[in-house]
Amino acid sequence: MRKWLMLACALTGVWSAEAQISTLIVTGQDGSHWWKGGSEKLEEILESDGMFEVGEWAIGFEQAAERLEGYELVVVNWGGEAPSEEARRKFEQWVADGGGVVVVHSSIVPMADWKEWNKMTGLGAWDLRSEKDGPWVYWEDGRVVYDYTPGWAGHHALQHPFTVTHRLPDHPILKGLPEEWEHVKDELYGKARGPAKNMVVLATAWDDPAVGGSGRHEPMLWTVDYGHGRVFVTAMGHAGNDPDMRYSMEDAGFQTTLLRGAEWAATGEVTQETTF
Ligand code: ZN
Repeated sequence: MRKWLMLACALTGVWSAEAQISTLIVTGQDGSHWWKGGSEKLEEILESDGMFEVGEWAIGFEQAAERLEGYELVVVNWGGEAPSEEARRKFEQWVADGGGVVVVHSSIVPMADWKEWNKMTGLGAWDLRSEKDGPWVYWEDGRVVYDYTPGWAGHHALQHPFTVTHRLPDHPILKGLPEEWEHVKDELYGKARGPAKNMVVLATAWDDPAVGGSGRHEPMLWTVDYGHGRVFVTAMGHAGNDPDMRYSMEDAGFQTTLLRGAEWAATGEVTQETTF
């Protein structure tokens, strides 16, 4: 899949031009979020360390499916409807053949009816999901719990800062990072449900019932293997309907895990030594 040989400049830590990971952002629709501002912020973060080169955005999966060739990474910031069957098959094939995907926050909400998309994200929320879509997945007593109790999927309390805890600190995406860190004000997504197959929970956050949470340690970062492809999901990164409301993407924990997760999704390894 890699078109470029990755060569890090040992002296400066800056990535050489031919080393860049070609990245396609899929965006353009999201009723509950400021998709344009959120996508601009994602592009800014991805281009901040020189490893990723973000091309012209794809407006929806219909357009993305036509432009996948030559890209190594697709970053999804999309809250719209699912594309045509043809576009679905193209995207599924691209991922199964080894494409890397990063899924941000509300992108786990739409397209409940696109079965393969839900396999890629592992977990989804809202959009009429329920026990029919899979178990509620959370962390308890040192392990992942798959809770098949019937119920709706998707929940968040009022936005608030919260602590993120790494559950697999030796995973390449997390290795060398603080195992606990404070995330800025965000929507803490909970009660997500999905097929949860080939899924690895990397980090969770306590969804405190005292502030309206679910009373579980909810997955915040996870990976899914899809064929030869790799998917990295961050449930964080709310961007509200106002230019001043991108604060949830502003902290180093969100940005560092996004960058490292993106490299892992694209290449299967993490060479960034960035920490915070
Ligand atoms: Zn949100």
